[in-house]
Amino acid sequence: MKVDSGQFDWQICGHDRAVNFLQSTIKTGRISQAYVFAGPANLGKYTVAERFIATLLCQAKTDVKPCGQCFHCQQLAHGVHPDVYRLTRLVDEKTGKLRKKIIIDQVRDLKNRLSQASMLNDYKVGIIDKADELNTSAANALLKLLEEPTPRTVIILIADDASRLPATILSRCQQINFFPVATRLIEAFLTDRGVTEVRRVARLAYGRPGIAWSLVANQEQLDDHNTNISNFFLFAKADLSQRFRLVDKLINFSGNEVFNSQLIGKIINDWQLVLRDLLLVASGNEYLVADIEQLDNLKQQSKNFDFFKINKLVKLINQAGIYFDYNISSRLILENIIINL
Ligand SMILES: [Zn+2]
Repeated sequence: MKVDSGQFDWQICGHDRAVNFLQSTIKTGRISQAYVFAGPANLGKYTVAERFIATLLCQAKTDVKPCGQCFHCQQLAHGVHPDVYRLTRLVDEKTGKLRKKIIIDQVRDLKNRLSQASMLNDYKVGIIDKADELNTSAANALLKLLEEPTPRTVIILIADDASRLPATILSRCQQINFFPVATRLIEAFLTDRGVTEVRRVARLAYGRPGIAWSLVANQEQLDDHNTNISNFFLFAKADLSQRFRLVDKLINFSGNEVFNSQLIGKIINDWQLVLRDLLLVASGNEYLVADIEQLDNLKQQSKNFDFFKINKLVKLINQAGIYFDYNISSRLILENIIINL
């Protein structure tokens, strides 16, 4: 069905190719049964999916879609649209941690819901976030669902790493790739929305509008970032026994492992950024440094970090990301890093 829409108001930062393509499919009515939105986290894949769906479902008579006002737009904005089913990894009730995989029951549930008639006599939509985390039986169930499409149904798979999806699934989807967004585009996007001091935020985002937006929306995150950077240098300066005492003093572990793994994940992410910046300063490319507010500090600190040490730490921190997948306690992961700083 062709959706009657003259203009689009999607408010997306970057991703012109993906956005133009999706809008053209709406204009021409050539909407695929299934899409994979692929690319690293925090680029805006989910936001584009939301705008795409909102445009498909918006019932406003106005020329600009989505209108943001009609019943469909409102229901979508509140995450309660009866024809839109969202699916992602669940928290395991036993461990309190996010499950590593999307399980078959979730896909079966999606299949049941999509096989029923639309509540509002329109498109039915399934969005699977972290679709690259489907376990094997869930992936098989999804494949069946894609092989037996129901009319006026759209399924969008959001995947950080599409190569982890089975080829049989990929072959049944229209794949749309997302890439990091130029810093100048992020700066312009934030400036247009009245954000001040956009330069540092845009640079810290490393091409990921989602990170930029969350730094703007939450000053605490920027404060946490600054704390994580100064802690990095404190740990690096301390001797080994001091470092273990500092863990208790500087890191706010809680009894909740979900909280802890988010906390350590953020610390590790910030430490990756500082190592990258140290490498840039050490190689005479300080004009590329992301954390421009830290430049003087980085220049000073870089005297204590040669290429060999930085490379070793980069490898160590990359490895830490893998440990998360093996259910290792986040405290142990952090301690393993600080021993080697
Ligand atoms: Zn609307």
